[in-house]
Amino acid sequence: MTGQAQIGVTGLAVMGRNLARNLARHGHVVAVHNRTAARTRQLVEEFGHEGEFVPAESAADFVASLRRPRRLVIMVKAGAATDAVIEEFAPLLESGDVIVDGGNAHFEDTRRREAALRERGLHFVGCGISGGEEGALNGPSIMPGGSAESYRSLGPLLESIAARVDGEPCCTHIGPDGAGHFVKMVHNGIEYADMQLIAEAYDLLRRVAGYEPGRIAEVFRTWNRGRLDSYLIEITAEVLGHTDAATGRPFVDVVADAAEQKGTGRWTVQTALDLGVPVSGIAEAVFARSLSGHGALREAAQQLPGPVRPELHPDDAAQFADQVEAALYASKIVAYAQGWHQITAGSAEYGWDIDPGAVAAIWRGGCIIRARFLDEIRAAYAGGKPPVTLLTDPTFREALERAQNAWRHVVATAAQLGVPAPGFSAALAYYDALRAERLPAALVQGQRDYFGAHTYRRTDREGSFHTLWGQDR
Ligand code: NAP
Repeated sequence: MTGQAQIGVTGLAVMGRNLARNLARHGHVVAVHNRTAARTRQLVEEFGHEGEFVPAESAADFVASLRRPRRLVIMVKAGAATDAVIEEFAPLLESGDVIVDGGNAHFEDTRRREAALRERGLHFVGCGISGGEEGALNGPSIMPGGSAESYRSLGPLLESIAARVDGEPCCTHIGPDGAGHFVKMVHNGIEYADMQLIAEAYDLLRRVAGYEPGRIAEVFRTWNRGRLDSYLIEITAEVLGHTDAATGRPFVDVVADAAEQKGTGRWTVQTALDLGVPVSGIAEAVFARSLSGHGALREAAQQLPGPVRPELHPDDAAQFADQVEAALYASKIVAYAQGWHQITAGSAEYGWDIDPGAVAAIWRGGCIIRARFLDEIRAAYAGGKPPVTLLTDPTFREALERAQNAWRHVVATAAQLGVPAPGFSAALAYYDALRAERLPAALVQGQRDYFGAHTYRRTDREGSFHTLWGQDR
């Protein structure tokens, strides 16, 4: 039996419901299903007028309402729930049908599920969807993995509901099996780094330049009209400009300063460690959130001495703000360069053949890190020979050259005044380490050879060497 719905969505919490509505608003007939049927009924009651929904209360009815090859999007809690739902539906499907997991799955889970379902003749598409509930409804950035064949069937539907920038959909086939969820994971890692850098810029403007939140909101609005133009800068200005209704105080001053996390930033760093990719900016951002949550540790450390803080002359404050803008831009380039390094390393490791420029293109709209800046990254990868690192792309190289004095001044000032700037500092250290002709890694190799006979390579001869330490005296 085959039905009329072009696509189905199961899992109708905030993300699934909004995705189903987005599909229906674009003229697709959408089958809808949820474990608890009340959610399905509620969706049709509230939003049935927006398009054509086919509600189903049982898994069998849901599958029967789909046109072949069936395309079924799962939007449930990531982890065991996704496996449970796959096991519920897979036996009801036929060869060539496509299961899409739009949740935030770990890419290794996606690889496992894809391989298992491929054996059963089914396509499994791990699909990163960014932009939260608002994006799901009005146009997300969509990162589908899975087979090229599945994208031929699914791609036009996804492209029709994705965000659009300059007429192009923010959706492209990322690569086989777990490539889509991998890229979504790195997106979130970059998001962590970007947010941390912005937060450090705020902290420096407040604690060093002495600006109040309302004034910093104005500074951010100005920055948002320049090269830092991005969704994150825009919403930061909104948050900083917001006054708490209950107390009349700046909103940022009444919020507990312990940042939470759902885990995708941590996954990015764990995966980077496995791949041997130095994503220090993302790691610092994840650690900064975890440090902020260690209340007892922070309380115990309040008694530790800090520097005597000289006042910044008010005349210098505006100049310092400009320097912070430059430091933020330079650090942002580093964070994104590290993220793209991870994408290219993951692509090589798993044989995904990801187009790094296409990733930049689909992140220009619909997702949290959307920014004008991504056009530059896309351009960097548009030529014949991709840069080894984004830092050496001529546009970024020039920007780093122009920013570097200010960047160094900001990091030095933060250190002198005892204002933590782990993101800015780590980015600068990465930049200087990559630039260095020689690194003290040579000494580390000597130490390793001394205590563990781990051997070392030489600069003047091929081969592997070990020194008989202590025997030459
Ligand atoms: P959620 O709170 O993560 O999950 C709730 C949904 O999962 C409900 O429909 C629930 O059904 C269903 N569910 C849970 N366990 C189930 C099981 N064992 N069997 C069948 N259904 C089960 O929902 P969400 O916030 O809409 O997110 C959906 C997915 O999108 C998640 O993977 C999330 O990580 C991802 N995501 C979320 C966002 C966001 O901004 N929220 C952004 C991007 C991606 P019942 O109604 O029956 O309980």
